Parts: sequence; structure tokens; C-alpha cells
Amino acid sequence: MDSILRKIRDECLEANKALPETGLVDFTFGNVSVLDLSRGIFAIKPSGIPYDDLRKEDIVLLDLDGKVLYGESKPSSDTPTHRYLYRTLGERGVHAIVHTHSRRAVAFAQAGFAIPCLGTTHADYFAGEVPITRDLTKAEVKGNYEWETGKIIAEVFAEIDPMPIPAVIVRRHGPFAWGANGIKAVENAHVLEVVADIAWQTLLLNPRAESIPAYLLEKHYKRKHGPEAYYGQPTDPSERKAHRPPKAPRKGYPDPRFYAFDR
Ligand SMILES: [Zn+2]
Repeated sequence: MDSILRKIRDECLEANKALPETGLVDFTFGNVSVLDLSRGIFAIKPSGIPYDDLRKEDIVLLDLDGKVLYGESKPSSDTPTHRYLYRTLGERGVHAIVHTHSRRAVAFAQAGFAIPCLGTTHADYFAGEVPITRDLTKAEVKGNYEWETGKIIAEVFAEIDPMPIPAVIVRRHGPFAWGANGIKAVENAHVLEVVADIAWQTLLLNPRAESIPAYLLEKHYKRKHGPEAYYGQPTDPSERKAHRPPKAPRKGYPDPRFYAFDR
């Protein structure tokens, strides 16, 4: 295994280990994968192994045709969904994918609602509502179910840029989130659960609560993303007014190195 493949394997292990720390997963529900776009190879969690027991050698590496290249374990049963999404959205920036059954987001999936963008907490991370897929047909469920799940997600993003909206709700099932790397994707899955929780409570208080006005949504999203972003500390130390010694990187999740709000 060369250094590029070791990198995605290790990133995949780190992100899967971070997942239980977010409180998003019960038992072994959930999985993270990481893509190397240039090689068309991705690393994914093996099926049914508890997060605590995961080791480097358990991570499975596959190509985009589904051929296992490294790993003795059976890959996650959701692997075809990840593979479909990398084939269709990989070139649009989706380089790591997280699937969980986090409870608030699953509640939206079961209720059949997209997560509306009701305030600035949501707008800081998602440039609009988090969309919901259509239902799978009986034939799709009886056929290659996990592959078809990827297809109905990709259908939603035919018209939507997947990076400003780095998550989706699969109807009656649950959330998928993504990002430019494994930890960023875990962070997006975590924020998705937070905004689902806040939206739920908002709608309980006021079922007629309206979406955030477009001008406020744009203000909040753009101050953290893209060329006009100004949230946080400048990345060039000479531009910082406070001269603080850099902190040693902290282990575990959340990792402050990944909090630069760029995907
Ligand atoms: Zn699932």
C-alpha cells in the first residue's frame, strides 16, 4: 500500500473513531468513508465491527467499480451508496461521506420533511434547507437497494451544489453528510444533528415559523465560506493583532485544525 492509500485509510480510521464521540451513533450504526479522487479509490468502515475495536487493517479499500483492493473484512453494507455518490459527486468536492442514524435527523426523515433553514446557526453551515430525497420505489428496494439509495441522493444534487449544502435526508431512513475530508464530514454530520434538533424545537414552539430571509442567510453563510469570509482568525499570522503562541494540536474530536470553515 503506498502513501496515498495509507493516508485515506488512516483518515477513514480517524473519522470512524471520532463518530461515537459526537454522540450521533447507537451501537454500530453509521459509517464513514474517504475518497482519493485522483486514484478513484475509497476507504470505508468494515461491516458490524464496534468503533472501539476498529484497527487500521480492518478498513477496506475499494475502487469505484466496487472491487476490494485491500482489507480482509467485509465492507459496510452501505458501501454501494458511498460508491454511487463518489462516482457522481466526487468531482464536485465530495471526498468523504458520513452516514448515521442520528435521532433528530432520522425523525425528519420519518416525518418526510426537509430541514428548513430557520435561523443563523443553520445558515452558518448550510446555504439553505437540507433537502430530502423521494421515496424509493418497490422495484428499487427489491433491486440493488443501497446503490439505488445513492442514486436518489444524487438526483437531488443534480440541481444543487453539494458543497454549500453538505448533507441530505434520505426519506424514511436518515442523514448522509459529506465534506472535503473525513473529519470535516463528521463535523457536518454533527452540525446537521444540531440544526435538526433546533429546527424541531422551533417548529414545536411555532409550527408556522418561517425560513430565514435570503439576505440574512447569505450574510451568515458567506462570512464563513468563500472569498469574502471574515469569521475567525486570519490564517496569515502577520495579520493577527494578538500574538499568541500556536497551541499544540489536540487529539480527538473535535479537532480545531478542521474548524477553518472551508470545505
Ligand atoms: Zn442507514
